[in-house]
Amino acid sequence: MTSTLIHIIYGTIIALILKLDLIPFLVFTNLPDLDGIVDIFKDNIKYHRCVLHNIFAYFLILIIGSIFFSFKLVFTALTLHFFLDAFKGENSYLYPFSKKKFVLHPFKKKYPFWVYIFYDGNIYFTIISLILFFIFLLFYL
Ligand SMILES: [Zn+2]
Repeated sequence: MTSTLIHIIYGTIIALILKLDLIPFLVFTNLPDLDGIVDIFKDNIKYHRCVLHNIFAYFLILIIGSIFFSFKLVFTALTLHFFLDAFKGENSYLYPFSKKKFVLHPFKKKYPFWVYIFYDGNIYFTIISLILFFIFLLFYL
């Protein structure tokens, strides 16, 4: 499970490098994870990585988002989200037409679901990402 924190860290780095508006970029790069809100309250993974993590939602958000923001911003933010999610956990890219799960590295839920907003389950990846983020900010700012 890729945490919201990880999406924010890498979203900020990419948005600043590409000189895209940071706040809309972070909104779009985290938007697909809204399908996990119900799951957070039920502490059960049922809708997350299905409803907004498929190619149909991807193009729908891309089209609607591009009306209000630049195509480059929405495309980069969404693609970054899907790219990061592809490495950890199950993705239902063809939902609702198929419930086939695409998995590179399986995800096993160890903590209450809300914990994964801040922590993706791999302490080394989280620490390395935070160090990378602060080094990037030191050189960027
Ligand atoms: Zn996601």
